[in-house]
Amino acid sequence: MKKDISWDKIKPETKTIWAGESESFPYNTTQPSTVNSVAFNYNSIDEWMDVAKGRKEGHIYGRNTNPTVEILEKKIAVLEGAESATAFSSGMAAISNTLFANLKPGDRVIVGKDTYGGTSKIFMEYLPKFNIETVFCDTTNIKIFQKEIEKKCNLLYLETPTNPTLKLQDIQKLSKLAKISKSLVVVDNTLATPINQNPLKLGADVVLHSATKFLCGHSDALGGVACGDSQIIDKIFHFREINGACLDPNPAYMILRGMKTLALRMKRHNENALELASWLSKHKNIANVFYPGLSSHKGYSVAKSQMSGFGGVLSFSIKDESMIEDFISNLRFAHAAAHLGSLDTIVGPPKTTSHVENTSEERSKLGIPENLIRCSVGIEHIDDIKNDFDKALSGL
Ligand SMILES: *Cc1c(COP(=O)(O)O)cnc(C)c1O
Repeated sequence: MKKDISWDKIKPETKTIWAGESESFPYNTTQPSTVNSVAFNYNSIDEWMDVAKGRKEGHIYGRNTNPTVEILEKKIAVLEGAESATAFSSGMAAISNTLFANLKPGDRVIVGKDTYGGTSKIFMEYLPKFNIETVFCDTTNIKIFQKEIEKKCNLLYLETPTNPTLKLQDIQKLSKLAKISKSLVVVDNTLATPINQNPLKLGADVVLHSATKFLCGHSDALGGVACGDSQIIDKIFHFREINGACLDPNPAYMILRGMKTLALRMKRHNENALELASWLSKHKNIANVFYPGLSSHKGYSVAKSQMSGFGGVLSFSIKDESMIEDFISNLRFAHAAAHLGSLDTIVGPPKTTSHVENTSEERSKLGIPENLIRCSVGIEHIDDIKNDFDKALSGL
């Protein structure tokens, strides 16, 4: 394999398999290995110093860098079209490290409404402790946003589509306005994945992922990642080195392996979710369906302009809240769990899943109805998924 590949013209399906792996591995293995060693040995102090000072490639200590983790970082960077990436122990670690590495007392942050529950907790509770002002803004309304950004903004934080009501944020438009105030634009791309959406190409500075979700895809490893220009990623990486939220090589390997089928899985997730969403929207026991691929969805035109697929997550409200429990227990091929982005279909109400950390008052403020069910549509056959949902819904 050649070392220097220009990835620009290579398709995502090929990138998922080859990116980061184009260099030869020790023992001529064709596949990367899990390197568990915490420390790396040097026979010459000079060489050790060169590595420590970054003059030569290599590794010193596992909290700083690790060869397996590095392959994962290269793969995701190529997929996002980023110069660089750095990995973390979880998605929340990627989010909190990015925020704390870039913000200082006196700064003002604008956050798109209804971000992931853990994320909104950082903005509501932890950043204000350090005298960082956080403003929850309806970023789907450009006029409201423009007024806020004109006051002051050091960092704009977006999640699109949002979890769990799948609101769309116009990354290009919002980034353009944010740049006028020299604000850093951070986008959580977990729900879309780099297969469906590349925020850096739309003007964002940093893209974040919970690698625990679609990137891993098999519900068996936790991880997170931040991607962007080398300069900004170095800054986040140096904070992570000290903060200690590094990704362990074992989950790194599992995420790496999961990512090889990312393009294939996303194609199926996109198809299944779109079909289930249109089918649910015609069902008599369903009040509302939220999915960016439905032309009735508020963010449909934005979704069409910035996404190449609409993703595997949808949510819907059952007409009667008291039916939620029966519906969920009637399903045969779905886990009731606080998770998304896996091979298997997963359902759960936000009050027990993404927004369990919030009070019902906070949830209502974030526009999340109590009768909502979030569904991460798996890659099972769509006929079986629909049949299962039909049976569970008709039993109500
Ligand atoms: C799950 C999730 C996170 C948090 O990721 P963890 O890996 O669980 O820490 C952040 N953002 C979104 C959109 C998520 O779905």
